[in-house]
Amino acid sequence: MNHAGRTVILLSSNDYLGLSTHPQVIQAAIEATERYGTGSGASRLVSGTLPPHAALENALAKFKGAEASLVFGAGYLANIGVIPNLIGQGDLIFADRLCHASLIDGCRLSQADFRVFRHADCAHLEALLRRRAGNRRTLIITEGLFSMDGDVAPLAELVGLAERYDAMVYVDDAHGTGIMGATGRGTIERFGLERRIPFHMGTLSKALGSYGAYVVGPNEFVQYLLNKARSFIFTTAIPPAIAAAASAAITIVEREPDRRDRLWANRQYLFDGLRNQGFRLTPTVSPILPVLIGDAAQASAFADRLLAHGVYAPAIRPPTVPDGTSRIRFTVTAEHTTDQLDEALQAVMLAGRETGLL
Ligand SMILES: *Cc1c(COP(=O)(O)O)cnc(C)c1O
Repeated sequence: MNHAGRTVILLSSNDYLGLSTHPQVIQAAIEATERYGTGSGASRLVSGTLPPHAALENALAKFKGAEASLVFGAGYLANIGVIPNLIGQGDLIFADRLCHASLIDGCRLSQADFRVFRHADCAHLEALLRRRAGNRRTLIITEGLFSMDGDVAPLAELVGLAERYDAMVYVDDAHGTGIMGATGRGTIERFGLERRIPFHMGTLSKALGSYGAYVVGPNEFVQYLLNKARSFIFTTAIPPAIAAAASAAITIVEREPDRRDRLWANRQYLFDGLRNQGFRLTPTVSPILPVLIGDAAQASAFADRLLAHGVYAPAIRPPTVPDGTSRIRFTVTAEHTTDQLDEALQAVMLAGRETGLL
């Protein structure tokens, strides 16, 4: 990428499959713009639903093996729109401590009582479920693939607990969509839990290289959201080009599995390189490879030195991550070449030495 007039290696993009620059995705966006214009002109329920929106919702439902899907303007909007329609005042939410801010805001809007359980800790969650008074309506919230740590939720155990304690589960698979599972359908596919997790959300803005988000689930549930979710109703529909690009990206996820193969090969290459240099990584199982530093100032200094050596990967600090866990969140994509990764590893080593991390 170009940064301040200089070519640097980008190691912080969520465009994991390189689809935002795929010729067919770009072509789909151009054609939709030429045909329908740049803007959708209104909210979805007024006159903003154009053929690319309907086509995208069909493609998403088919891709996910769900009855129906609903596209939101962004992942943030999906989460604050869906959660208050699942749960409300007097009800109970248990959310993983590392859940994204949009999930937390959705919980706040719902007015349900809200507790966090320790990250990926099912024993803690079970203790909380057991202590629950009466049979209050309960929602368990987790990310599928965690955005800042690169690990996956213990989804099978979470679903088991939900079934045993009569709770619902809401999964945000923003980062898993397109890359996790044998065919890229996401973290739920990775665990084979499609039938036990009736609905979930994900975004179009990471591996799908576009913008916006979706919820998939039973027809009745999607119809309910369409009529109730305020962040769906009271906002302009995404531009037709964006919808068409996302549809094209789904086709490519299915048609070009070699992109995922390249992604995972690159992921292993960078992971091994970082670990061999002696960096402390989170227990990641994905192309998200966070090097834990701890102190925010030291993380920033490391990022500055990385940039000086030609690698763009900014420090992630509180409040995006908990205090004392500042980090460089490296991400790798299918598009990186081995030469680029070698060059990047060299830069990481130099920056690590210069900042006293190695
Ligand atoms: C990126 C992200 C979102 C927000 O999606 P946007 O489309 O960027 O608003 C929500 N949840 C998680 C876990 C994310 O990583």
